[in-house]
Amino acid sequence: MLVQKFGGTSVADPDAVRRLVEIVRTARTRDGRGPTVVVSAMSRVTDGLLAIASDAGASRTDAALTQVEQLRERHVAAARALVAADGLDGVLAFLNDQFDQLGAIVKALAVLREVSPRTLDVIASIGELLNSRIIAAAIASAGLPAEWVDARQVIVTNGEHTCAVPLMKETNAALRATVVPLLDAGKVPVLGGFVGSTPEGNTTTLGRGGSDYSGALVGAGIDAREIQIWTDVDGMLTADPRLIETPRLVPALSFAEAAELAYFGAKVLHPSTILPAVERNIPVRILNSWKPEATGTIITAEPADSSLLLTAMAAKRGLTVVDITSSRMLMAYGFLRRVFEVFERFRTAVDVVTTSEVSVSVTVDDRRNLEAITHALSEFAEVSTEPDMALLCAVGDRLRNEPEIGARVIRVLEEVPLRMISQAASRRNITVILRQADLPHAMHRLHEEFFA
Ligand code: ADP
Ligand code: ASP
Ligand code: MG
Repeated sequence: MLVQKFGGTSVADPDAVRRLVEIVRTARTRDGRGPTVVVSAMSRVTDGLLAIASDAGASRTDAALTQVEQLRERHVAAARALVAADGLDGVLAFLNDQFDQLGAIVKALAVLREVSPRTLDVIASIGELLNSRIIAAAIASAGLPAEWVDARQVIVTNGEHTCAVPLMKETNAALRATVVPLLDAGKVPVLGGFVGSTPEGNTTTLGRGGSDYSGALVGAGIDAREIQIWTDVDGMLTADPRLIETPRLVPALSFAEAAELAYFGAKVLHPSTILPAVERNIPVRILNSWKPEATGTIITAEPADSSLLLTAMAAKRGLTVVDITSSRMLMAYGFLRRVFEVFERFRTAVDVVTTSEVSVSVTVDDRRNLEAITHALSEFAEVSTEPDMALLCAVGDRLRNEPEIGARVIRVLEEVPLRMISQAASRRNITVILRQADLPHAMHRLHEEFFA
């Protein structure tokens, strides 16, 4: 059994969907059953929905409603291009109903002048719900027995809206009750990624890029033999192709390496994707929907046997460094607890932490509560912040046992002012924090040294 997840660019327009259908058909012919298909919203639709929410909340009603109609047209056009006559009316009724509801929500928000996270999830989920419905009908129109599954019935999460955490027991039970019987009946289940719902039935989302995570959750829940992430690049590359012109393909990497790369900014994989796969030891493969015959990147428990010193690198921009200094930290216990309690209270995750005798430096990428955090920390320490920082992370299993590789990473970056350097217990990565302006140069230096 196979789970195939298709990202936004792999469902961007009717041509992309026709490629998707052939990929699904090939998998079904090879396996004799399935696959289970998980799809994102069409490219840029989630951004559009979030813009609608923000316009509506600011009472820019006309702008919001215009965008609603543009999205309606795009989806209706896709459905007309892809769905055969016998299924079209049902799909169009579903689309129109969803957009009518969205229009009503926009008007309500414009009056309330406030968008709660819960409402934001209702709006953001529409992209995946609509698109999965269209894709299911498109696959059926191409002669395969596709069946739409409402993802809200199978991905059960807690109530942390916009970044909900799946409840594994409930989700697995729902998948076994819904998706497995469809597969047993010879169907191709199709569901939207990214969305779920609480046990009480409130719609939630798994965080931006969360369809990968949905794909992995479904794969784990149905005990798939492989989870495939179909996207617009050849696989995991040695560096972000938007920052390095000619990155190389990484043909194989370990779960641990992939998790670190995803966490530290390789957007091709949502950071939580690997977790469900690790638990069931299911291989994850990243593939290019423009080149279905290419082998992509395979991610498994086995560390990849590589002649390269490093496996890949990742970067994150837009970080803020927070320096927290207190002379009372000297030899005192309890200081770090107090520091991290503040971040916990304001629900802000920190990425990298370094400490010295009297100071702690942390990086955060969510600035929403930064002012409140700084204020709370100043009650017991001196605090300063520095915005526009970036993180650059070199990942490779070989870093664990070959300390000279780490040394070489730092040496290559010798002319770049490094603000923080960290190597955590996994010792699979070396992470440096530097000024965002220095990031391109630093990335080129590292890439040249280790991957050219
Ligand atoms: P999808 O819509 O298929 O989920 P995403 O845009 O979320 O696609 O992820 C794919 C993109 O991730 C690529 O187009 C690429 O620009 C970016 N990316 C960043 N870092 C990497 C990397 N190390 N390897 C591959 N792609 C990367
Ligand atoms: N459509 C969602 C997003 O843009 C989820 C995803 O594409 O993975 O974040
Ligand atoms: Mg993605």
